[in-house]
Amino acid sequence: MKKAETYENYPLWTVILSGLFSLSVYGAGFYILFRLGWIVAILYLAYGSFLEYRLVRRHCPECYYWGRTCGFGKGRLSALFFKQGDVSRFCSGVMTWRDMIPDLLVSAVPFVAGVVLLFVHFEVTLLIALLLLVVLTTAGNGLIRGSLTCRYCMQRELGCPADRLFNKGR
Ligand code: SF4
Repeated sequence: MKKAETYENYPLWTVILSGLFSLSVYGAGFYILFRLGWIVAILYLAYGSFLEYRLVRRHCPECYYWGRTCGFGKGRLSALFFKQGDVSRFCSGVMTWRDMIPDLLVSAVPFVAGVVLLFVHFEVTLLIALLLLVVLTTAGNGLIRGSLTCRYCMQRELGCPADRLFNKGR
């Protein structure tokens, strides 16, 4: 099978699309959780910001794309604030499904809250936000990673713990 080419720097449109994707997930989650009060919605955004900070602070400095334009634009962002780390640590890292829990909660918490809220008080806009969240988290995520980002990733060639976890057995 022909191997996909890898990007040294991803095209800007990929970064824009992946950024819009992330913002849409957080936007849908925020919209749903806002029904529980603005404090819950703000806490949700604070949690999302913490995850993004953790990624840019701890993982991006050890990635091949530190200082380069990765598919999510965070390699350049990380280089603005943090020193380069050891790329070999990234390659040899091991990721388990337990490590994925904090990221999964970004969609799972508003999803569960949205389903409960719909049962309590049905609203079309809430249903649309919930469906949007589900489509983005499943098919949207697959499209962004499978067709636009991971597919062309040099770090995947060098070794990526997330890729090894998701593609175990392939
Ligand atoms: S293969 Fe790994 S490093 Fe590359 S974009 Fe996907 S998750 Fe990120």
